[in-house]
Amino acid sequence: MDKKDILRITQKENNLSRRDAIKLMGISPIAAGVLASTTGSSISQASTDVIGKVLIVGGGAGAIMALSRLKRAISNPDITIIAPNETHLYQPGQVFVGAGVMEFEDLLLNNNNYINQDEITWIKDEVKTFDADNNCVITRAGKEVKYDVLVVAVGVQYHYEAIKGLSKEDIGKNGITSVYLSDLEKGTAVGATATWEWFKELKEAAKTGKPKVIYTQPNTPIKCGGAPQKMLHLSADYLRKDGLSAEYQFVTSNAKLFSLPAIDKALHEVQATYDTITNKFQHHLQSIDVQAKKATFIHAYDVQEIDEDFGTKEMVSKTDTVVLDYDFIHVVPPMSPVDAVMESTLVGKSGWLDVDKHTLQHKKYKNVFGIGDVCGIPMGKTGGSARHHGPVITQNIIDFMAKKELSATFDGYTVCPIKTEYGKIIMAEFNYKGPAPTMPLAFDKPRWLWWAFDLYMLKPMYQYLMLTGKF
Ligand SMILES: Cc1cc2nc3c(=O)[nH]c(=O)nc-3n(C[C@H](O)[C@H](O)[C@H](O)COP(=O)(O)OP(=O)(O)OC[C@H]3O[C@@H](n4cnc5c(N)ncnc54)[C@H](O)[C@@H]3O)c2cc1C
Repeated sequence: MDKKDILRITQKENNLSRRDAIKLMGISPIAAGVLASTTGSSISQASTDVIGKVLIVGGGAGAIMALSRLKRAISNPDITIIAPNETHLYQPGQVFVGAGVMEFEDLLLNNNNYINQDEITWIKDEVKTFDADNNCVITRAGKEVKYDVLVVAVGVQYHYEAIKGLSKEDIGKNGITSVYLSDLEKGTAVGATATWEWFKELKEAAKTGKPKVIYTQPNTPIKCGGAPQKMLHLSADYLRKDGLSAEYQFVTSNAKLFSLPAIDKALHEVQATYDTITNKFQHHLQSIDVQAKKATFIHAYDVQEIDEDFGTKEMVSKTDTVVLDYDFIHVVPPMSPVDAVMESTLVGKSGWLDVDKHTLQHKKYKNVFGIGDVCGIPMGKTGGSARHHGPVITQNIIDFMAKKELSATFDGYTVCPIKTEYGKIIMAEFNYKGPAPTMPLAFDKPRWLWWAFDLYMLKPMYQYLMLTGKF
């Protein structure tokens, strides 16, 4: 299967010709506009004349969504943004690049299109120190910036170095890849490009044998928790389409494939169609011997034991070390907030930005709000969640500035479009209460509709509607 076949599978075989697909891409900003005007966000802000200096830190999905919404909602905005990056990576597309469906250039957007420097002060730097006790931050260049309200939108940082024996430089070599790795400064999606090469190398190897392939998931919260399984299914399908297979192991720190029982069951059914995937749960990748191609995991589990003295049963936590050989390995690094946040008084016990899970207001510093992956809340390190955070923090910031009680609430909305094969996606949408499908369709079924939506509609919606604060 080459790139042409991938397009054929994802378009024509599903009754969508290439011409129709291109048409769909062309009209999707319009369609997205119609969608926005019909569905809208649950909270819409009337223009308000609240006064105060708002500082937004970050230059990704959450920061730009917050900026656009606040600018639209406040009649005389006094907004500064501190963000190092002009290039804005459409991160959900990294999965499609990794599977050979999109080109890496398709992911690149430009923050200049969203930050109008006639209206907004843009400091192209990073925050080094958050000094929330004194309502100010200090940039790497040493500039002190004061604020009345702070929006923290700095996302996560990857810790490849926490896996002993591995460094970022190993990605793309010796059978190792990681779709996550990106380099915003250079505007590249290094890991996604490397992963597509890795898919092809894996296929070559499968022509003469049955390569051992490991996919890992760490024991920290990660952005887009479904991405490791998306890549697993796509690579297994990539081989299957040519009648090839490999010995896949999904080795995850989690105890299940997915937290929602219906999706968990559906994902087991998807795996069964491949016949070549086995799971190891509660295994955390500790180290890699890059040359010997061995991965060492810590298996943490609870067992029931009888206390011989008292004859009582008790649960005991145990750990084993498990060493697995591999030919190919896809690594997901442990993740945390960036150092500037971790070293500040803004983090809570969870190690993440200590915001209320409903209002997204900082629990200690009432003039600090969070948006996106940095938030220490139980759910939602996805762009879809950041979209839902946007109207909530905008309303609550306005309420705060107007000295009113905060009125907007985040319901935990999270979306995970899990690719189950080329041309099919399970659209897992849920919130703090459970399943929360947007459309009246059984939400645990793989559908081509969601594939088409994710591949053709979502990026224009992100680019034209979400980042402009209209949706
Ligand atoms: C492979 C992959 C697949 C994904 N798939 C999906 C999907 O299908 N659906 C979905 O909804 N989401 C998906 N996501 C997740 C989504 O992209 C993120 O949840 C979203 O980008 C989070 O936005 P954010 O603003 O919190 O962080 P980011 O968009 O990562 O932005 C963080 C920003 O902060 C800046 N920054 C960092 N440190 C500092 C500092 N000290 N000072 C100033 N600025 C700083 C960075 O330069 C960057 O601009 C995926 C992500 C990946 C990697």
